[in-house]
Amino acid sequence: MSLLISNGRIITASDDYVADVFCEDGTISAIGRNLPSHRFQADRTIDAAGKYVMPGGIDVHTHLDMPFGGTTSADDFESGTIAAAFGGTTSLVDFAIQYRGKTMRHALDDWMARASGKAVIDYGFHMILTELPDAGLGDMDTMVAAEGVTSFKLFMAYPGVFMVDDATIFKALRRTGDNGGLVCMHAENGGVIDVLVQEALRKGQTAPKYHALTRPARAEGEATGRAIALAELARVPIYIVHLSSADALEKVRQARDMGLPAYAETCPQYLFLSSDNYEEPGFDGAKYVMSPPLREKWHQDVLWRGLAKNDLQVISTDHCPFCMSEQKELGKNDFSKIPNGAPGIETRLTLVHHGGVRSGRISLNRFVDLCSTTPAKMFGLFPRKGTIAVGSDADLVVFDPNADRTLSVKTLHMRVDYNPYEGTPVKGAPSIVISRGSVIIEDGRFVGKKGAGRFLKRGPSLAPAGL
Ligand SMILES: [Zn+2]
Repeated sequence: MSLLISNGRIITASDDYVADVFCEDGTISAIGRNLPSHRFQADRTIDAAGKYVMPGGIDVHTHLDMPFGGTTSADDFESGTIAAAFGGTTSLVDFAIQYRGKTMRHALDDWMARASGKAVIDYGFHMILTELPDAGLGDMDTMVAAEGVTSFKLFMAYPGVFMVDDATIFKALRRTGDNGGLVCMHAENGGVIDVLVQEALRKGQTAPKYHALTRPARAEGEATGRAIALAELARVPIYIVHLSSADALEKVRQARDMGLPAYAETCPQYLFLSSDNYEEPGFDGAKYVMSPPLREKWHQDVLWRGLAKNDLQVISTDHCPFCMSEQKELGKNDFSKIPNGAPGIETRLTLVHHGGVRSGRISLNRFVDLCSTTPAKMFGLFPRKGTIAVGSDADLVVFDPNADRTLSVKTLHMRVDYNPYEGTPVKGAPSIVISRGSVIIEDGRFVGKKGAGRFLKRGPSLAPAGL
């Protein structure tokens, strides 16, 4: 099976030129201008004139089919990856959860079973660690060396559920120095937040907005600084997930200015939404209950600057949808029982293109870098994924920079009963999405196959070399 994408404007993290891309057997085999048709006979030709041809988006932070707070995130690996594909994302890295008393092996088998036969795009896993007994250290090595699970997520928040202490964090960090893994940190001070939550509830403050008021930006800044200090002590890189505030960004910036290999991602919700959303009438603030919470609006500009100046390296989604009906409702009388998370897997490229590139905050190349190339480098997928080059997987997006869309739950494909950006007009959207040489989105329809996504055995992060 061969595919020729002709006359598109090729955009990578560093390049911008018009050329044809020839794909054979799932990979890119030639790039050039006016490729001679006798040598490059394609089963199908796509005319991409006037459009961008970009490497498929890579979303390194998703929670499909994830149990949380007595319910399960509303998208499974089929609906979630189809929605991702509609949005121009062709690879994702989700999270397997090692629960206390269970092994990493058990967690990986569990999540493999959730994804295989369902995912329509390629997927890998990070391993969430909730404890680290001595036996676990060897398991970390096995995950990295044999299973291609080369990153580990730890939580400084959610006491009693996911939170681990500094000793556990330090042990995990040190081990990655030996085995080549990378630690990803949920950095919020869970102890402080827990006290604030209990105080609020005692005062009868139960509305969704108190979720945000009990998780102050300082608690994120403190944990971010501590996580970076622990990584410095262990002499290894660290990656902060879903960074939401100026307070936390300041810690990352300081560390990077000192030459430390500290990295961080942010998510569209922190760039486009704010704590004002918690003031929406009735229980609607629950739509935005996620951790970290949405911040005051002024943080947005600081985060955009961080993205432009490489103090932030990645934009992921933290896609973790829960329906208002029956799921978010669990916290109707107690904000601390609202399942944490929001949908976003489908809207990332469109939002960042519209609000970032079109408004002049970041360049087109930086857009590709943040949404595809650096995620691939950070998590051991580059250059197989994350760029347009001979030998790379033919994961491609033909992006129409002039397409007009209005984001709405009525037209998006995520399996959830609301959208945080309802009614937002955006310019620029994927028109054709290609996964390993096969067209999977075309004419606004999914034309791929359930289960066609493959598990990605990832290599080591390029973070130690500097990104
Ligand atoms: Zn998350």
